Amino acid sequence: MILGRVIVLGLYHDPEHPEMDWWEEGRSTPGDRILYGMTTALSRWLREVHGREAHDIPYAVSDGGIYLKDAAVLAGLGMFGRNNLVIVPGFGPRIRFRALWTDLEVEALPLRECLSPCIKCGRPCQKHCPQQAFPGGHYSRERCLSRMDADKASVASRTSDTTQKESVRHCRNCELFCTASFFPSPVLCLRTGRHQGMIALQPEDVK
Ligand code: SF4
Ligand code: SF4
Repeated sequence: MILGRVIVLGLYHDPEHPEMDWWEEGRSTPGDRILYGMTTALSRWLREVHGREAHDIPYAVSDGGIYLKDAAVLAGLGMFGRNNLVIVPGFGPRIRFRALWTDLEVEALPLRECLSPCIKCGRPCQKHCPQQAFPGGHYSRERCLSRMDADKASVASRTSDTTQKESVRHCRNCELFCTASFFPSPVLCLRTGRHQGMIALQPEDVK
């Protein structure tokens, strides 16, 4: 049986270009379409140039996708922040992910410990949540989803002509208020391994 590997790609979503994140029924977002182009091109290159099996992994778990944020952390791209988003060194939580599968077999990668940028932060990400979706400091998926559903319903109620599609501009407060944009990983690393995998040390871990 071939297990293969998952390759995770990330794309910076510049707040100066919010339209990259505007969601359309059946089309996802422009940013995700760019990522899809990247994973399909990389898959094609692996197949045609290197003779590997490779294909894009669907975005939604319900369509056969994977938990992309967890995969990104395991791949060493970043660490989970208090906002339940992956904080990527140099880019903060403003990265969207997509993945592809390939039959390449590579050695498993060790994780390393890094100081979380959340340790000395006053949690503006949580304080600016319009849904109070961080009760007790922990992310409530249910509360966040209720906001996303409301965002979609609000657009649907404004759009009477079903041939005209209006994009949904979902809430991004926990992302946009995050102060960790310029968090540089190598400087804050407590213990380095051969690889870049990271796990975040939270305040309770640091004596
Ligand atoms: S996306 Fe908006 S509603 Fe959801 S957790 Fe973040 S700030 Fe709260
Ligand atoms: S705003 Fe602060 S506490 Fe929230 S995720 Fe960013 S660094 Fe962490």
